[in-house]
Amino acid sequence: MIGVVGGGIAGLSAAYRLQRCDYDVQVFEASEDLGGLAAVYETAGDPIEKFYHHLSKSEETIVELAEDLGLGDAVEWRVGKNAFLADGEVRPLDTPWEIAAYPHLSVYDKFRLTMLTMEVDVRGGMPSFDTYDDLADFEDVPIKEFLLDHTTRGVYENFWEPLLDAKFGSRKEDVSAAWLLGRVKFRGERDLLRGEILGYLDGGFHQLIDALIGAVGRDNITTGARVTDLDCSGGAVRTLSAETGDGTETHEVDEVVVAAMPNVLEDLTGYPCEIDFQGTVCSVWSLDESLTDTYWLNLADEAPFGVFIEHTNFVPPERYGGEHLYYTASYVQDPSEDLWNMDDGAVEAHWRDGIADLFPAFDPASVNWVETARNPRTAPVYERGYLDMVVPYDLSDAVAEGVYYAGMASKAQYPERSLNGGIEAGFAAANRIVGTRPRPDGERTVAEPVPE
Ligand SMILES: Cc1cc2nc3c(=O)[nH]c(=O)nc-3n(C[C@H](O)[C@H](O)[C@H](O)COP(=O)(O)OP(=O)(O)OC[C@H]3O[C@@H](n4cnc5c(N)ncnc54)[C@H](O)[C@@H]3O)c2cc1C
Repeated sequence: MIGVVGGGIAGLSAAYRLQRCDYDVQVFEASEDLGGLAAVYETAGDPIEKFYHHLSKSEETIVELAEDLGLGDAVEWRVGKNAFLADGEVRPLDTPWEIAAYPHLSVYDKFRLTMLTMEVDVRGGMPSFDTYDDLADFEDVPIKEFLLDHTTRGVYENFWEPLLDAKFGSRKEDVSAAWLLGRVKFRGERDLLRGEILGYLDGGFHQLIDALIGAVGRDNITTGARVTDLDCSGGAVRTLSAETGDGTETHEVDEVVVAAMPNVLEDLTGYPCEIDFQGTVCSVWSLDESLTDTYWLNLADEAPFGVFIEHTNFVPPERYGGEHLYYTASYVQDPSEDLWNMDDGAVEAHWRDGIADLFPAFDPASVNWVETARNPRTAPVYERGYLDMVVPYDLSDAVAEGVYYAGMASKAQYPERSLNGGIEAGFAAANRIVGTRPRPDGERTVAEPVPE
């Protein structure tokens, strides 16, 4: 039997691919719910993700998986409008004329910013179109130094710095220029007249989780089963032990895919991962009315949260029984931060005041419901030298034969962690098993390629 540790999208995807190749698979999930970071709340209509989620046009594996699982028609591409809140004004920044009208960047700043986002290096007056082709050249370059050299101080201070503050907080200067360039390539497509085109799944991403559960088979998934031990004596994995409500179960295994955060891998195998993770505190608010015209509001002004997202300006409120849904969220770099130590009620009160300060039309009494989720490991800090720290899919040499890893510390989750990256990590680990072991029926299968 092949044991999979973790029932998030990565673990379910690994199990799905292995099972399609006829291997006997069992997924062990610590919590009672499947889906990990893609878990949802109920609304008056479709469920909503506890943490905001959308797709970029460059993400193809998730679209192919949705098609395989009969959900191809549910993938939809919508305009996700972006804006900056600066000096108390919401300034849309999607179309060329909105960018032209943005008062916090000079004409020259806008030219340099546009050239960088088009991956054209105009330093020295001669355009170069291949400077940014090899990201490895920028892996050790500090992001601030890079932006000051390749754009202008105005672009750094008035555009990138507020975004980096929201994304990495006090760790922003540790991030590499390679990450930024990877993100520029990762971001997909723009409709010049309307804005950025982003993907969603009609009905919510939990549908993909449910379809994976159906394809893997509920009997092959145990929830409420925290894996606490892998016996790797003799250089190969032999057993997996999981704590359930009824005590500890031990199962013989031929292979194991650890599809959880790298601290779980370290606890189970001793394999150390140097990557630092940030936590997230994220609230979903239900209101009866709309507060902005924007999906994603970046905050250049002081605010108690890092980002303000009006989800129902992306997916219409009719999907949620007429509820207008918002996210407020902040990343947390250190567990000693005040926000991390507030209980949910205190976070909500603090953020409710913050919304009222930013939007005078907001009536705190009009909140139908608010729910807050938090998780101490939700995103890597993509610091310099990051790619040297990713955890290999195949840990036969580093840990023991038969041990594989697919999770947020996998290469597929760079330069941005995503559902697509989780699926690719799960597939990549499964492919290595398929590639090395004959199927139970004696046939040797050829793994389907996934981008790596
Ligand atoms: C704020 C936020 C915004 C995001 N935005 C987007 C977005 O816009 N688009 C996008 O595509 N993605 C987004 N993501 C990322 C996406 O949610 C993740 O990349 C993806 O869900 C990770 O899946 P995973 O299976 O690797 O990990 P997880 O979802 O963390 O799953 C791991 C599972 O392992 C279980 N587990 C842990 N330890 C054990 C154990 N010992 N035994 C058994 N089970 C265990 C956990 O309970 C969990 O269910 C966002 C995430 C966050 C937090």
